[in-house]
Amino acid sequence: MPDAGPATEAKLAAAGPPPVFRRLVIVGAGLIGSSVARIAHERGRPGGDLAAEVIVTDSSPEVLARVAVLGFADGIEADAGRAVQGADCVMLCAPVGAYAGIAAAIAPHLAPGTVVTDVGSTKVSVIRDVAPLLPAGVRFIPAHPLAGTEYSGPDAGFATLFQGRWCLLSPPAGADPAAVAQVAELWRRMGSMVETMEPTHHDRVMAIVSHLPHLIAFTICGTADDLEGGNGDDATRAEVLKFAASGFRDFTRIAASDPVMWRDVFLNNRDALLEMLARFTEDAQAMARAVRWGDGAYIEDRIKRGRAIRQGLIELKQA
Ligand code: NAP
Repeated sequence: MPDAGPATEAKLAAAGPPPVFRRLVIVGAGLIGSSVARIAHERGRPGGDLAAEVIVTDSSPEVLARVAVLGFADGIEADAGRAVQGADCVMLCAPVGAYAGIAAAIAPHLAPGTVVTDVGSTKVSVIRDVAPLLPAGVRFIPAHPLAGTEYSGPDAGFATLFQGRWCLLSPPAGADPAAVAQVAELWRRMGSMVETMEPTHHDRVMAIVSHLPHLIAFTICGTADDLEGGNGDDATRAEVLKFAASGFRDFTRIAASDPVMWRDVFLNNRDALLEMLARFTEDAQAMARAVRWGDGAYIEDRIKRGRAIRQGLIELKQA
């Protein structure tokens, strides 16, 4: 065979690296799943560097109909078992409470060597619910992109969602390093910075940086809404909405998040979330005491710590 000439070499270089996976199947085409599919699609195929083919499955016929219109999948399949046939990577992108059911449905159809990964916000429960159901030879590499918005569904996704954001991998003990490297590479090519984190530690960290703030946002909106109830205080409640200043408005943005997704996160990170809530409650009581007794130095010190954390986030470009 003749040597490849400079023109052929240039063409090969322009074609970029081969895709990480041949057939990527996304289970659940909401905010996160549709963002992954969009990126794979926008990178162009044939020759895309994420996956040569993206198949989407979802439990909702309405979602699948919408995916067809939006056009970011190469194939759409309502039956999850049929969808994963021939896949070399399956990514679970449904609420974490649905994972056990999905794993049971797809397990008989997974070929040995397939990489199963996910994007769920909890990791201990995901490993508990999925790992025992997967057949021998299937490689399970749980992951969690630290990126999202308060919107959900297939229209909410966008191709830059993961740019400059962390993706944490929590491979179980004994996971195949080659599969870990493939999943890490997939996320890097989607623009993420990748780090590995032990599952229990992941869930404790997420409890304080994500799950507790959501719990507080849902709760404070409920407290404001309750002002309406019982004591004829309709006027106050109306004023909450009319004069919502940035503090309350910022909470309402977080509180607009998907109820099913967050119900599942709370129920599947119970211990860590309750621990962080107990710590928070103690600290809130300490702040209440400082307010009651006029301890201005304590109040000022706490506010200064908040400002320092915000400044740190800005410097890390994660604000
Ligand atoms: P989403 O927009 O609500 O999308 C979830 C999709 O999964 C919906 O289309 C839903 O259909 C579908 N689904 C539900 N049960 C299913 C099942 N048994 N089989 C197949 N599809 C199913 O949620 P999301 O925000 O993308 O979250 C997806 C996952 O990402 C969750 O595990 C979440 O913890 C994680 N995550 C979310 C964020 C975030 O900020 N949103 C960030 C990082 C990670 P229906 O709507 O009909 O139920």
